[in-house]
Amino acid sequence: MTSVQSVLVVGASAAGLTTAEALRRKGFTGSLSLLGSESELPYDRPPLSKQVLSGAWEPERAQLRSAEALAALDAEFVLGDPAVGLDADNRKITTASGRTLTADAVVIATGATARTLPEQRGVRGTHVLRKLEDAAALRAGLLSARRVVVVGDGVLGAETAATARQMGLDVTLVGPQEAPMTGQLGALVAGHLADLHRRNGVKLRGGVLPDALHTEDGAVSGLRLSDGTELEADVVVTAVGCTPATDWLESSGLNLDNGVVCDAYCRAAPGIWAVGDVARWHHQGLGRLVRLENRTNAAEQGLAVAADILGDGKPYVPVPYFWTDQFDVKLQVYGIASAVARAEVVEGDPVEGRFVVSMTGPQGPECVLGWNMPKQARLQRAAVVDHYTRPRQPVTP
Ligand SMILES: Cc1cc2nc3c(=O)[nH]c(=O)nc-3n(C[C@H](O)[C@H](O)[C@H](O)COP(=O)(O)OP(=O)(O)OC[C@H]3O[C@@H](n4cnc5c(N)ncnc54)[C@H](O)[C@@H]3O)c2cc1C
Repeated sequence: MTSVQSVLVVGASAAGLTTAEALRRKGFTGSLSLLGSESELPYDRPPLSKQVLSGAWEPERAQLRSAEALAALDAEFVLGDPAVGLDADNRKITTASGRTLTADAVVIATGATARTLPEQRGVRGTHVLRKLEDAAALRAGLLSARRVVVVGDGVLGAETAATARQMGLDVTLVGPQEAPMTGQLGALVAGHLADLHRRNGVKLRGGVLPDALHTEDGAVSGLRLSDGTELEADVVVTAVGCTPATDWLESSGLNLDNGVVCDAYCRAAPGIWAVGDVARWHHQGLGRLVRLENRTNAAEQGLAVAADILGDGKPYVPVPYFWTDQFDVKLQVYGIASAVARAEVVEGDPVEGRFVVSMTGPQGPECVLGWNMPKQARLQRAAVVDHYTRPRQPVTP
């Protein structure tokens, strides 16, 4: 049983909305509010670098729920008004417009903001991709561009390069790794990803960093790389990671360290929880603090937090999971591969463009990757569950 009569969710996107919906589904009848800094109704981010950027979808299609479904939630949405402060003892939020909102339970779901290169500020033709408005601006830029340089060889950079290339642009993907996404996929699968990009005409510049941005009349015209190479560009997209959106919590007294630090139940302080990209919680299976930036975690953590608010919580111990779509390949990744993990193809064949790779670390199987083999990858996931769910020594946040 819970004594919670009111819940305020700060951040009205995937994690925040899932938490709110789960509360209602579990029978919560108290007052429910969602506060969001963006003025759009809650929308989904994965399509921004894929269908919305390519134009296959109108932006509205990225909305997470219809207006009717949101109305049925019986929640107050306060949109376009960012939280600027939290009084944690009294669970009181202050917003940019001067509102104050209090609740018995506060859920921090403010996600993350895109990092930028300092020299790109104010330079036309440079872009990041985190919000719907970013996707619209980048799409407009790409439609009138010929040469694009994507800086950042993680998942977002690789996806953006693939989409821009499919739009017919001359695309160069720049990053410090030997092959895109090596950190997330390991060298074997990242090597196949590099081949996929090359086959489709993306120029890969691995092992380099951007050194200087060139401009003409306030617009980007090119980039110098750390190895001295000069690249011409009409558009530069920086996909160099993101920072948990915790600025507004600086004076809250909460423990902030690469996210809102939480215990195993995703509790940051009495009556305060964190979910999604902003939350860094104690993963009992891994025995350490973890912050995940993926869509499935946003949803699963929302369910876990809703249960805990209602007095029915358990430690949150997911098997991390993300997917990415690039060209004609759908990749599924269960678990986190450590740098020393050994990769082995356990089903299918890379030559046929369909395979599953198992990654084994010092303590056994830790990651399973499917390359155009979603069903088989899901079945192989069973091999890594133990690695994530076996309790280890607790760590106090
Ligand atoms: C372009 C793109 C493509 C992606 N593709 C994939 C994919 O293919 N697969 C995958 O697994 N994951 C993908 N992701 C990651 C996934 O979308 C995120 O993990 C997920 O959106 C996290 O949800 P969230 O609700 O925690 O944070 P967010 O989605 O960032 O939402 C946080 C919300 O809080 C708001 N907010 C911030 N500060 C404040 C404040 N002070 N007050 C009020 N509101 C505030 C923000 O404006 C935002 O609306 C992608 C992300 C991006 C950006």
